[in-house]
Amino acid sequence: MELTNIDNELIEQVKAKLGQNCDLPNLPYYVVAGILAQSGKMYFGMNVDSWVGTCAELVALSNARLGGERKFLSSVSMRRAGNTYEIVPPCGRCREIYKQYCPEILTILLDDNQNLIKVDLNTLLPFQYKE
Ligand SMILES: [Zn+2]
Repeated sequence: MELTNIDNELIEQVKAKLGQNCDLPNLPYYVVAGILAQSGKMYFGMNVDSWVGTCAELVALSNARLGGERKFLSSVSMRRAGNTYEIVPPCGRCREIYKQYCPEILTILLDDNQNLIKVDLNTLLPFQYKE
């Protein structure tokens, strides 16, 4: 699925936040996730780590839910290590949680040819845990 202009803006905002606000000296890398809600608003989260931690995606999702959002269009996660920025897929736990809280969300990723694509959660998590 192709990206929209607002998807590209989401990526740029995530990259800007990674450059401006992730400055703890003891972390090997930082992740910022951005979520675009159906309302058109964007929500962001940064990973917070010590000897345990929370993924950026979950912070962004929490911010969006607290903002009253219940329907989502797309998400992107980006990691910075030094001066290198890269789009990364959400981890398995985040995929499970996205599936519960925002099953309609599309995730922006790089394919094998380094092209930006959007995939649905059934593609990311084909065999979801079921209670
Ligand atoms: Zn995660």
